[in-house]
Amino acid sequence: MEISVNRLSPDKLKKRPADESKLGFGDIFSDHMFMMDYEAGKGWINPRIEPYGPLSIDPAAMAIHYGQQIFEGLKAYRGREDGVYLFRPRENFERMNRSALRLCMPEIPIEEAMAGMKSLVLLDREWIPRSPGTSLYIRPTMFATEPHLGVRPARSYLFYVIIGPVGAYYKEGLNPVKIYVEDRYVRAARGGTGEAKTAGNYAASLLAAEKAKEKGFTQVLWLDAAERKYVEEVGTMNMFFVIDDEVLTAPLDGSILPGVTRDSVLRIVRDWGLKVTERALAIDEVVAAAKSGRLKEAFGTGTAAVISPVGQITFKGEDHIVAGGKMGTLSQRLYDEIVGIQYGEREDRYGWLERID
Ligand SMILES: *Cc1c(COP(=O)(O)O)cnc(C)c1O
Repeated sequence: MEISVNRLSPDKLKKRPADESKLGFGDIFSDHMFMMDYEAGKGWINPRIEPYGPLSIDPAAMAIHYGQQIFEGLKAYRGREDGVYLFRPRENFERMNRSALRLCMPEIPIEEAMAGMKSLVLLDREWIPRSPGTSLYIRPTMFATEPHLGVRPARSYLFYVIIGPVGAYYKEGLNPVKIYVEDRYVRAARGGTGEAKTAGNYAASLLAAEKAKEKGFTQVLWLDAAERKYVEEVGTMNMFFVIDDEVLTAPLDGSILPGVTRDSVLRIVRDWGLKVTERALAIDEVVAAAKSGRLKEAFGTGTAAVISPVGQITFKGEDHIVAGGKMGTLSQRLYDEIVGIQYGEREDRYGWLERID
């Protein structure tokens, strides 16, 4: 597939943010976007780069009514030798296709989608910030466009990629977060859509997250839907616990999003020779370990923060301080290792890094 490029004329280019220390997350987008259409019977057509701008959508578009929407999140980094690097990008597109199958949406052609994304990043490469910890966030998205109000899988879709500069997640060092163990609301049930990156999961999580924020917590730790007993994820991150010298995380059994960062952490800690277990872990076990001083660390993993240390876990009105409320040793070591690889500064033993410029 040939990608057509409709470039903005130089006088129409947007003003880029001057102060990289003020970059937040998700408010600023570059000059262009990559798009392609799907029509039943024709497949994926019209791969193109267009100026970034509003979409025109039929009010009856099925995504708006029945929620056929999936997305991904990855980053481009400006690193060693002023290169432009991507971290395990194929994983995101493969996961997107697994999400697509769950939502009865068409799979995307991975090579074309990746080629489109890379062309976009290179066309708008001046938007990749240069300060330490900053990056270019990449958001591939797909939704159903067919105008129709009967409930069934749609016959037409739009896939697109938008990109924008994001700030260093930790401006004042890695500050551990306070998390609230949610024992009333659930995010996802096994057999549902929890393992797909689809909009509805996030809509379902908002109420609990807002209530937790009102009480001064940063994130919600989700328990399993059936018994409210086992720890699943925290906010939009996978969750790890270090009890004694064992690293524990929930297994991928259907309700948990299979994070790329989760997978990277598992590979690295296994290589470091640590004891690693993927198993159902009861919140009661975590609390007992915290009380007896055996809970050494707890941290979330995800593309945005990489490693997010947890300093406090609150369950049924009881606060449990983790690692003295500070960043744990393993959390710090993992953060340094993964970020080092992402910016091309540490040896990439796994072939995770792809230099595109
Ligand atoms: C995206 C996401 C993650 C983290 O996935 P990464 O691939 O590591 O960024 C974890 N949980 C949820 C619910 C997510 O949406």
